Amino acid sequence: MDNRTVAIICHGGAGTITEKEDYARGLSEAIEEGYRLLRQGAPALEAVLRAVVMLEDNPVFNAGTGSSLTIDEVAEMDAGIMTQHGRFGGVICIRNVKNPVLVAEKVMTETDHLILAGDGAIRFARSMGFEDYNPVTEKAKRRLMELRQNGSKFFPRLNQRLGITEQKSGTVGAVAIDRNGNIVAATSSGGIAGRMTGRVGDSGIPGAGVFASPAGGVSCTGHGEEILRMLLARDIGERMKTLPAQTAVTLALSEAKRKKVLCGAIAIDARGGIGYGYTSPDMAYGYKAADRLFLFTDSRK
Ligand code: ASP
Repeated sequence: MDNRTVAIICHGGAGTITEKEDYARGLSEAIEEGYRLLRQGAPALEAVLRAVVMLEDNPVFNAGTGSSLTIDEVAEMDAGIMTQHGRFGGVICIRNVKNPVLVAEKVMTETDHLILAGDGAIRFARSMGFEDYNPVTEKAKRRLMELRQNGSKFFPRLNQRLGITEQKSGTVGAVAIDRNGNIVAATSSGGIAGRMTGRVGDSGIPGAGVFASPAGGVSCTGHGEEILRMLLARDIGERMKTLPAQTAVTLALSEAKRKKVLCGAIAIDARGGIGYGYTSPDMAYGYKAADRLFLFTDSRK
């Protein structure tokens, strides 16, 4: 077996992060667990799923339990997973499940489709044995109430009172490379608080919020409408055909910055090189490679 270096990188969303220590703790637990699996010889798919499930189950993050709510107080979640071989599974606007990323994986392995949305996604989840689960937390309800009072800077038509400069983050993502050189990327999000019900974000769309190819894997976070317009994950993936992950991310994000798009991305290239960057005030991220853990709280921008 080719025993090349394994690596995993995770993010906990781009935006303004107030609970930095909680984010860092949640990320380090997920990264350590994913890395432990990779070192034991587990496939990248297993490591990524495990890490994202841990982040979804942690109410600090905006994915799974603790997901942001729509303007009608509903938790509609998006998730996507992609392998370097181009296999993809996604769920869009799925409700009442604990781990959207696990349903996305079942879409990939058990259906002839790439993405299931809404009621159909929920029905499929039930048929796969995923139980009814309410991911709505009191904190997410309070956050929506605050937004109702102050407005969301991303959705001016929903609320004409602009001027909010703070956008909470918390979407999660992971990219890993295993010792056979297989690369998998996944993203899971509760979406942006205060959006219209039925709104589709980038997280469950291949090429937008998540992407993988033989050149590398990518997970994005930030303003979903703009990430969709830019097909940000695909852009970074294309760049990794000729550039290391860090250069690919930096170049794509400088383009995003020029367009004033608030976003962030993590990536791993085919050589196991790590890349990350963001145009937002903060991004929660961390990685482990060569047995060394690095967290965003270790060095401030
Ligand atoms: N990209 C997500 C969305 O627009 C939100 C986020 O990453 O914070 O749904």
